[in-house]
Amino acid sequence: MRFTSKLPDVGTTIFTVISRRALEEGALNIGQGFPDYPIDPRLAEALCGAVAEGRNQYAPMEGALELRQTIAAKLAASYSISVDPVTEVTVTCGGTEALYDAVQAVIAPGDEAILFDPAYDAYEPAVRLAGGRCVRIALAPPDFRIDWDAVRARLGERTRLVILNNPQNPCCTVATRADLDALAALIRDRPVTVLADEVYEHVVFDGRRHASVLAHPELRERSYAVFSFGKTLHATGWRVGYAVAPAALTTELRKVHQFNTFSIAAPLQHAIARYLGAHPDAWARLSDFFQAKRDLLAARLAGSGLEPVPAAGTYFHLVDYGALSREPDMVFLDRLIREAKVATIPLSPFYAVPPPLTVLRLCIAKDDATLHAAADRLCEFAARQARI
Ligand code: GLN
Repeated sequence: MRFTSKLPDVGTTIFTVISRRALEEGALNIGQGFPDYPIDPRLAEALCGAVAEGRNQYAPMEGALELRQTIAAKLAASYSISVDPVTEVTVTCGGTEALYDAVQAVIAPGDEAILFDPAYDAYEPAVRLAGGRCVRIALAPPDFRIDWDAVRARLGERTRLVILNNPQNPCCTVATRADLDALAALIRDRPVTVLADEVYEHVVFDGRRHASVLAHPELRERSYAVFSFGKTLHATGWRVGYAVAPAALTTELRKVHQFNTFSIAAPLQHAIARYLGAHPDAWARLSDFFQAKRDLLAARLAGSGLEPVPAAGTYFHLVDYGALSREPDMVFLDRLIREAKVATIPLSPFYAVPPPLTVLRLCIAKDDATLHAAADRLCEFAARQARI
């Protein structure tokens, strides 16, 4: 039988590739973004309680109402906004499902979506499976700022979607209210929807405040905002995320969601609702928590030759190895896995056309002991390189 791939050039996601390499080589994995420390035991207890109580059958398609009400309360506390839990919130299988559903809801064959490179790798395949085309605008290191004039030049008759990841993974940059104003002004008279991937909403450093599209009155009307309890509760394996959008957009997203995953694991939803009900500020100090980890790692690596690039948000940190090597990132990182026994994430796979880059992404959502161990190994490796 002849079978034609719909995504012939798409391989296995870089996160899986690197995590496998880390296992093969016995390397410390600070690549793929997931915590290596336990979740709050009270959250674990809430899950046991939900199972014991019999919350084991299908949850409502849109998400357990208790959880959607909890989400609405959390959004009110975070951004002083009012969201209707019944018509505007949908619980999804991680942020990734929400992103996929939103793209399918918006993009028709021939439509275009604007992405900013380095772009998270789930975006482009979702657009292409919907029959759309991605217009990819490269952000250049070291500051990776969005040039809104460049965006204006790439907006066209077929543009239907702008995907904005804020805080940005893998650049660790944070968009400002002025960025959102610029975006709103550009698309004001166009049939363009915004898909805001805000899964790192609570990880912004140095006193910054997250600028959510939901708190921007003009963008609020035409945006899907995507969030993740995986990030907020340190439980990436639970795969519980949610999408927030005006009722009309939510209706379209749910048409996809209902035939994609239908509904999300019921006990997980009840556990999160109960936990956040009892501890509504569980996420309130997340930025401080991760900023301390950022500072720990950056202080350990500064001057090593693997130079920390200032990080404004997300639970990642970039390092620039340009002082040690001009090798392409895929080559250098494989050497780090084999010789330093530390696995990291390259940036080139996130670009349509990678610029010259000597940066790698490290995950800081790790125990301090893990970060120290990784820093020891990286510093030793860098010192060996410097001697060669
Ligand atoms: N979001 C995670 C990261 O950026 C990866 C998730 C995944 O592996 N699909 O590291």
